[in-house]
Amino acid sequence: MAAPAPALSADDADPSFAELLAGRPHLTANAQDGLTIEEVPLARIAAEVGTPTWVYSAGSLRRRFGALRDALRDAALDCEVHFAVKANPNLAVLRTLAREGAGADIVSEGELRLALAAGIVPDHVVFSGVGKTMAELRFAIGQGVGQINAESVEEIAMISAAATALGRTVDVAIRVNPDVDPRTHAKITTGKSENKFGVAMADAPALYASMAQTPGVRPVGIATHIGSQITAGMSAYSTAYRALADLVRTLRAQGLPVERVDCGGGLGIPYRDEPAPSPAALAGAIKATLGNLGVKLMVEPGRWIAGPAGVLLASVILSKRNGSRRFVILDAAMNDLVRPAMYEAWHGILPVSATDLVAPLSPCDIVGPVCETGDTFARNRGLPALEPASLVAFLDAGAYGAAMSSTYNARPLAAEVLVDGARFAVVRERQSLDALLAGQRLPAWYAT
Ligand SMILES: *Cc1c(COP(=O)(O)O)cnc(C)c1O
Repeated sequence: MAAPAPALSADDADPSFAELLAGRPHLTANAQDGLTIEEVPLARIAAEVGTPTWVYSAGSLRRRFGALRDALRDAALDCEVHFAVKANPNLAVLRTLAREGAGADIVSEGELRLALAAGIVPDHVVFSGVGKTMAELRFAIGQGVGQINAESVEEIAMISAAATALGRTVDVAIRVNPDVDPRTHAKITTGKSENKFGVAMADAPALYASMAQTPGVRPVGIATHIGSQITAGMSAYSTAYRALADLVRTLRAQGLPVERVDCGGGLGIPYRDEPAPSPAALAGAIKATLGNLGVKLMVEPGRWIAGPAGVLLASVILSKRNGSRRFVILDAAMNDLVRPAMYEAWHGILPVSATDLVAPLSPCDIVGPVCETGDTFARNRGLPALEPASLVAFLDAGAYGAAMSSTYNARPLAAEVLVDGARFAVVRERQSLDALLAGQRLPAWYAT
């Protein structure tokens, strides 16, 4: 990774509040109720549930899933959409998507259990990940997952052992590493040869052929996933998919059947004002490269579906000045939303009250209370004078938000709320302080 992005100055043309709202139709600024998600004022949720709280729009989840599915359908692609559970493993979010017909891309037994609990049928689950344990493989095969994406010859041996012990045969795809640079953040680049993921293209044919001889394993196809938050256009996708198409033809020329190609996830979203590719562009790239192979296609988007559908609602604890700098200290911190600290990510931050939404702006640093300078959400951001107890909302916090939270600084996990029209419900309770202590024990020899 290069040096951290330079701090943006206030006049570095951050999008205005109106511009941020314009791209996010589930959010409106109401002169009466302030910032509103679908038909529910965020201030009402804060009053009833407290802060910090993650708030997800069911309508936005449905619209975004539908837009992606329709773009694939409009391109006449036979393509299933498997939501990447790691982006947002909240049960109500998964259920919302399951009801729209989403399958799941999972990377652990925990995610599989969540997907099943949300009502996703095992056949619509793909098990990805570079290091699945024997216990996880046994559980997944026992449940009848639709496909396992294998990432190494060593793993294929494990899958075979797990499947034969259960007297089963499981559908397996090979995840290949096409060695392309999707020009996203280094920490979320996964398709370069230096990354830990997948098997080298050159090794894939021999591995695929050997799978056909491996008990308990049925080779069904190939998979890739080149990275996340891809906004630099379709060229990396197209390069990767062309390589996949070539591999399909190579395998078939060797008499090996290839039924499925899993195109991965990674479609980026505009957090600030960066140009972001559309589902139609992705569908077009898939169509142009893999459209004529007569294979069943799959995609595994996480961020594109869930990211824009959620906000993180927080309260101001206090504002202070250090010399000439204004600091606004929130009750949310890097343990809640780690993306700014981890990826130098930019998130839109909107005040919630109707008066704050139209008040004069001045630059400030928005920070959390955690004892690290990295606990900084934004620098030199134009915001109104925010009094203690004022509310703010972080935009685009529906993916890799709650999913990546921790209890660092002994801060309990925040509550999660699902909004649907005029209704809202707490879909994950705020963790209690007692729960933080619950699993901890002192050794017996400390008893005296
Ligand atoms: C993380 C991941 C995804 C989802 O990535 P997004 O950028 O959220 O779309 C899909 N597939 C695999 C294998 C992943 O690891």
